[in-house]
Amino acid sequence: MQKTIIWDLDNTLYFETDEYKHKLDEATAAAAINELGLPLDFQTATKKVKESYATYRDGLEIFAREYGIPHKDLYISYHNYKKKLVSTIKPYDGLLEKLQTINCPQYVFSTSSKDICEQILKHIGLYDFFKGRFYSVEDFNVYKKNESSEVYQKVCEQINTKPEDCIFIDDSYSNLDFAKQIGMGTIRIYYKNNSTKDMKFIDKAYKGIYECIDGLKKDYGC
Ligand SMILES: [Mg+2]
Repeated sequence: MQKTIIWDLDNTLYFETDEYKHKLDEATAAAAINELGLPLDFQTATKKVKESYATYRDGLEIFAREYGIPHKDLYISYHNYKKKLVSTIKPYDGLLEKLQTINCPQYVFSTSSKDICEQILKHIGLYDFFKGRFYSVEDFNVYKKNESSEVYQKVCEQINTKPEDCIFIDDSYSNLDFAKQIGMGTIRIYYKNNSTKDMKFIDKAYKGIYECIDGLKKDYGC
């Protein structure tokens, strides 16, 4: 049976440098203070974002829990700030050409808002390739990919494919956990060391996007 590939976008189809990640954390902090009026100084808010990632695998969650702000409001404010960072992303060389050689249908499913997905895909030269085949959590009225497996079920229904015929590829292991719960194949892309070797919900792990593409061909017949 031919597999259907579902790519994560952020830090999967482009690389988030440490500097970019830090800028994202600062953008989250700025959104929390300026748009949502949280009584925090910038440094404390930025520290909280990092703590939130470490604890909840989500930079916004801590503000939802400690200040009772609806996750949707945090999500919208954060993306207003994230917009400004898209132009600083460095696209991979020749990625479009590499993706075009893959012999399986390909989609994108992202935690980023629909607007930001579109902007990023345009910036990294993949918009035409994924046009009409990229989804945001927003499309399914949720704001996270690591909260429940239900959203993965909805993605599969949307693209009319059974979970077991899909391969979901993400850099974040907490997302892969939920994809696996409904029976999807799971691949993790890592960059430094494969720190998730023992996690049973990850079928395979490849270092970086190019090794992953080679793996899809060699190991999955794509
Ligand atoms: Mg990601």
